[in-house]
Amino acid sequence: MDMRVNIERLKQDLEELGRIGRDEHGGVSRPSFSPADFEARAWLKKKIEEAGLCYRQDGAGNQFGRVECQGKTVMAGSHIDTVPNGGMFDGAVGVVAALEALRRIMEEKIPATKALEVASFTDEEGNLVGDFLGSRAFLGLLDESEIRSGRTSFGMPFHDVLKRTEFTADGILAAHKERPELEGYIELHIEQGPVLEDEGVPIGIVERIAGKHYRECAFIGESGHAGTTPLELRRDAFLGLADFALKATQHVAVKHYGSMLTIGKAALHPGSFSVIPGRADFTLEFRSASLEALAAIEKEVFALAEDIASTRGLTFASRVVDKTTPVTIAPRMLKLMEEECRTLGYPSMRLTSGAGHDAQILAGACDAGLIFIPSPDGVSHSPAESVDWDDLEKGANLLLRTLVRLAS
Ligand SMILES: [Zn+2]
Repeated sequence: MDMRVNIERLKQDLEELGRIGRDEHGGVSRPSFSPADFEARAWLKKKIEEAGLCYRQDGAGNQFGRVECQGKTVMAGSHIDTVPNGGMFDGAVGVVAALEALRRIMEEKIPATKALEVASFTDEEGNLVGDFLGSRAFLGLLDESEIRSGRTSFGMPFHDVLKRTEFTADGILAAHKERPELEGYIELHIEQGPVLEDEGVPIGIVERIAGKHYRECAFIGESGHAGTTPLELRRDAFLGLADFALKATQHVAVKHYGSMLTIGKAALHPGSFSVIPGRADFTLEFRSASLEALAAIEKEVFALAEDIASTRGLTFASRVVDKTTPVTIAPRMLKLMEEECRTLGYPSMRLTSGAGHDAQILAGACDAGLIFIPSPDGVSHSPAESVDWDDLEKGANLLLRTLVRLAS
């Protein structure tokens, strides 16, 4: 029996999906629950039905195509939403390759003792309320108040967004009740970083997914006239932030090599060239594959912030927006994927994923595996995102064989 995907069909599907939500900057803008997302959902539903799979959608808008069988369910998938002005491969690769794998399993009549499903999870990118809305809903991990009264990253109340859709807060919060019992979950994804390309290896077997802490923070001082307040008497909130940004980054680089710290957004108030900033608002995000390192970074950088605040006559405030814990991939899944790589003759290497994926959420319900293929130039979340079709074929073949092993 031929256990390989049809790469031409897979490529055609990706190209069709990649045309939905094309924006004027040449990228794909398909945030969940946007008109482009609904067009993509309709496209996926049609593809699932054409493949002869049993289509269903849960209360959170997660879409599934099922090959029915007694026993537990083996699932493969990812997401088809994108960041604004993103690329056509992040997420889409995993959904379309899973669909292709199930088509091949049906065509070759490969025997299975478990049900198989392709899954596409809502809003992995977190354009609505927090990351992983769909997969968190699937596991019953949502914060009810966020769903009922949260605001989206575009500033609109989430319930106003829902009013324009067929979905409701109650339906989203109950989506996990429709979850089948899972045997395993596999996700194929582009690496979104440069490691595989640098190493010249087509397949990455992810062994850890970094956890993330994300906070909104502020240094608060006092505004004053830029011409009349002597430098030594100022309580300049921006200088607190600048001092903190440099020292905190250096601290993580030296003491927690491999972990990340990013201040991605900052705003000074009142925000005039002639006024000393009385307040500096900023986002603070740090990531690590080690739970101990995350806890240590949290403690150490906040001690640093307090220290800088007291030295400079400022106060420091912060609130947690999101926290995820690092995930270790089950040894059974690593072994299985590596065995199948050897059978296929594909070189592979183990990697840590610094980016978050639905697989880390699914790991809470079953053994979950994550396969990476190289991202040329490490580019992702950009119109320039691309894949090498040979690498995609290898990744999809590995996905197919791993699914067959899990379902046999
Ligand atoms: Zn993704």
